[in-house]
Amino acid sequence: MCNGNRIDKQTMKSNKQRRAEIKAHRLERAAALKVQLRTQDARQLSAGGLVPGMAMADKSRLAHYNTTFGEVPDFYLDQAYTCRDCGAKEVWTAKQQKWWHEVAQGSVYSHAVRCRACRQARRALRDAALRNEGANLLGDEVARLRALATTEKPTADALAQVEAALQSKWRSLRVVAIEVMGQWGGPRQIERLQAFAADRASSYGTWEREAANAAEKALARRAEKDREC
Ligand SMILES: [Zn+2]
Repeated sequence: MCNGNRIDKQTMKSNKQRRAEIKAHRLERAAALKVQLRTQDARQLSAGGLVPGMAMADKSRLAHYNTTFGEVPDFYLDQAYTCRDCGAKEVWTAKQQKWWHEVAQGSVYSHAVRCRACRQARRALRDAALRNEGANLLGDEVARLRALATTEKPTADALAQVEAALQSKWRSLRVVAIEVMGQWGGPRQIERLQAFAADRASSYGTWEREAANAAEKALARRAEKDREC
């Protein structure tokens, strides 16, 4: 039993060491690739085929890169970055980038900012908060926000509360804020809603797309209400 434990510990340690070595190697390679790209054209770099730390892009899966953003990447390269939370030096590998942009359809501009451990810690915190009090908290916030819509003309305070709700971490609260804006109506609110509705270029699942849908609904409801009056 004692012996078994010792072996386990050794295996774990060697795995840990191996991971550290791989990471150090990737960091070095990413730095070298960056230097190479400074002196060499990207096409030259890939002329002899794939180099380690490089992955070809499948352009057919990058439709969300098109039009507005211009350049669609030909390939991905390992990228070094510093974790925003713990400061660890990390590598966002070409393979991970490929998955993020082509499978998860992540935003064109987004890139890795936190290491795996810090991402997991954040997710755990968020989940715990949602489990413990988040659900009720969100319900209260929604009720408070909805109540603002009952006044015909928004006060400065009500406007500020809707503005704050639009920045909320909860998408559903942001949607309620949009609904409230529609219920208020008036040129200023309508203009904001139209701006939200116009931003339909974003891909499915993004906040911009959800906001555009909510704004369109709010505008339609507003128009109906105005016709009744
Ligand atoms: Zn970290």
